[in-house]
Amino acid sequence: MAGILAQNLPDAALQFLYLVAGVLFIQGLRDMTHPRTATRGNQISAGGMFLAVIVTALWFDILSPLVLAAALLIGGGVGVWLAVTVETTEMPQLVGLFNGFGGGASALVAGAELVDTFNGATAVTTLPVSLTATAAIAGIIGSVTFWGSLVAAGKLQGIVGGSPVSTNVGHVIKVLFLGAAVIAGLVLVIQPEMVGNSPIAPWIPSYWVLVGAASILGIFLVFPIGGADMPVVIALLNSYSGLAAATTGFVLGNTALIVAGTLVGASGLILTVIMCESMNRSLTNVLFGGLGTDDGESKDMEGIYEGQIQETSPEEVVMLLETADRAVVVPGYGMAVAQAQHAVAELIELLDEHGVDVEFGIHPVAGRMPGHMNALLAEADVPYDKMRELEEVNPTFSQTDVAIVCGANDVVNPRANEEDGSPISGMPVLNVAEANTVIVNKRSLSPGFSGIPNPLFARDNTSMLFGDAKESMQELVNDYKEATD
Ligand code: NDP
Repeated sequence: MAGILAQNLPDAALQFLYLVAGVLFIQGLRDMTHPRTATRGNQISAGGMFLAVIVTALWFDILSPLVLAAALLIGGGVGVWLAVTVETTEMPQLVGLFNGFGGGASALVAGAELVDTFNGATAVTTLPVSLTATAAIAGIIGSVTFWGSLVAAGKLQGIVGGSPVSTNVGHVIKVLFLGAAVIAGLVLVIQPEMVGNSPIAPWIPSYWVLVGAASILGIFLVFPIGGADMPVVIALLNSYSGLAAATTGFVLGNTALIVAGTLVGASGLILTVIMCESMNRSLTNVLFGGLGTDDGESKDMEGIYEGQIQETSPEEVVMLLETADRAVVVPGYGMAVAQAQHAVAELIELLDEHGVDVEFGIHPVAGRMPGHMNALLAEADVPYDKMRELEEVNPTFSQTDVAIVCGANDVVNPRANEEDGSPISGMPVLNVAEANTVIVNKRSLSPGFSGIPNPLFARDNTSMLFGDAKESMQELVNDYKEATD
């Protein structure tokens, strides 16, 4: 039935309004490529999505305006509540859940469209291949995304074990369930003629078998992945959620969904490639695990700390900084947890004022989401020319007097380069140990995300500044001010 917009506007208006939404998505994505314009990009994209939802609902009369307003209020309310209450350090899990919901919704909508089309048929009918094939693809990708994202979010939240496990049995299970999902999809596509409303229509079980098999595949795909490969998997699931949405767009014949889904799918894929390159990993290796399985050496390595740890104090660090010509700060997940970015930014500014050549060394997977450190430092007004990427900053450590590691661990762990078989093997790291002195600020000797000890802490030129990152950085700021006044 035609909705209120369709009754009052010419037919071409629908595609025009979808085009406007598409332009807003593209402009939003463009703005999101730089921290300075990212907030505006977010708002523009949200505006595009709001337009697409309203137009779809009012054009096709899917919902009455009252129900639509109530749905927007409830959905928007939950969104605002999440935005206000979820800590920035929990954002990756939230994004993971959003990816999963996108995939799950796509699988359900594709299934609902099949049911709807079939129930609407009054005579002997064969569902068109354009519908069954796209529904099968949306069902498979959507279900893999839903369950894979739930497992990934659980890993990031620490509910599901984060260590990588790579077994041949796991690979066989993946192949079996992928095969089952594909066969069920083929049954759906080549279904015989059938009568509308027939209770034994063969596509009914085959679609849900497909969804079930793809769900198990999603769990087994992500469960064995951990350590340094998690950032890649999250980017890939993001891409899958877009592909599932785009395919569902074809099922429904909805241009806005095709455009939005394709943009998410393509940008997620670009991010996946960037993350793979940053982590020195191929996508096949990430998905089917070659590296990344801990060989049990981690526990033996606990002994490396015994009698080897040197502790320092803020006063001693300030004395070092007073004589330093060059300093590099390496931020990590701990800086985000402690919300220490403002104190770190103040320290950098002070050092800069006193003629120290000071920069940030930013690892592409520091923190828990791509660009996590850049976003936090931009929020603290750190100038962009102070943020150096791994390839730029690594050659400078040998000319650096003091490297301050602020709440980072895996991204400065030399085991990544020095041995095979650890969860971070092969990942490029920041070579802070090449600096004259390394100060590592964290609360204890606990491992980071990958769960393995870090021999950097026991090196001769490393001193541990134990404490919360925000408090420690603030103490450095206060003591440096006192010393240089
Ligand atoms: P890590 O997780 O390796 O280490 C963070 C360290 O911060 C911990 O060892 C912890 O030590 C310390 N810490 C926690 N709270 C505080 C605090 N309040 N004050 C001071 N220190 C604190 O972080 P990195 O950034 O070095 O590495 C990121 C890891 O996360 C990599 O393994 C990466 O693969 C993974 N990852 C990254 C994603 C991304 O997209 N960026 C996504 C998923 C995973 P202590 O408890 O002793 O204080």
